Amino acid sequence: MAEQTSADLATAAIGDAHAPAEVRIAPASAADIEALSALLVETVANNGSVGFMHPLPLDEARAFWRGALEEAGQGKRVVLCAWLDGQLLATGSLALVQAPSQPHRAELTKVMTAPAARGRGVGAALMHALEQAARERGRRLLTLDASLIEGATAFYRRLGYHTTGDIPEYAYKPLGGLGATRALWKLLDARQPARILPADPEVDERHMRHALQLAERAGKEFDEIPVGAVVVSAEGKVIGEGWNRNIHDHDPSAHAEIMALRQAGQALSNHRLVGATLYVTLEPCAMCAMALVHARVARVVYGADDPKTGACGSVFDVIADPRHNHRVQVQGGVLGEEAGRRLTNYFRAKRGKPLV
Ligand SMILES: [Zn+2]
Repeated sequence: MAEQTSADLATAAIGDAHAPAEVRIAPASAADIEALSALLVETVANNGSVGFMHPLPLDEARAFWRGALEEAGQGKRVVLCAWLDGQLLATGSLALVQAPSQPHRAELTKVMTAPAARGRGVGAALMHALEQAARERGRRLLTLDASLIEGATAFYRRLGYHTTGDIPEYAYKPLGGLGATRALWKLLDARQPARILPADPEVDERHMRHALQLAERAGKEFDEIPVGAVVVSAEGKVIGEGWNRNIHDHDPSAHAEIMALRQAGQALSNHRLVGATLYVTLEPCAMCAMALVHARVARVVYGADDPKTGACGSVFDVIADPRHNHRVQVQGGVLGEEAGRRLTNYFRAKRGKPLV
């Protein structure tokens, strides 16, 4: 690859503690076609859904990038590359929609990360740069579709993208077989919550540990599904604790979140918990997500994703629906592996299977 000399060169720090400090993000040029083509061929060989079938001949990959850079030259596309020590780590494109009725929309496309770069914050840094490029071109609505098989949707949700739904049999995977896709969008100037609480990872972890202890009690003492929740006031005080009590209380609504919210309401003598944060070990369901909106909770922090009933993006995206008057900030994955393992072990123990 050639040295990047573009004036647009950006260094990606973007507040991501995991992003290597020296990652450089720059618009692609003709000199990058070899590296881009190799990444495209590799992505397709790894069954990545980027529009091509395996095996993708290198010449075809080169022709694709030549066309893409031509479009970039015409102002119809932006192609960015993330580099570290002369190695192409990732690329992503913005297709600037040409319809006269959609001068504000761009499609995110051909987002690819080299396997060696995954989990290092490079993808997030690249996305920030793509969003900035969109803003600079007056594009504030970003849309994309992400294959459901690759777990990419969790990545986009963390970056504030909303899911609109799944389309079955959308495209053939490069190695064969039809795969579904998930349609996502983000409005770059979307309304922010009225009050953004400082998110301190240590504080989040401490409260999540507390919630995990409550989950353990639910499982061991009451033989309920082990989910625990804690409500912390705007001042940082624990004002509600809860765990699943459905079976014990003969109450279909007695989820951990509801129990914790009820206690918090009593503690504040108020049905609105303005500025409060709810910590819960499992992604809230639709009922609990709506309860959080009704309660005007500022923020929800959860542990494990719930691929069966999760309503913070996994199955439904109730909490982020832009039609709500109140916005709840969402953060998932805090001690998520531990929370998920405990749930798995509860069910494995029930079935007499060895624990993981
Ligand atoms: Zn629930």
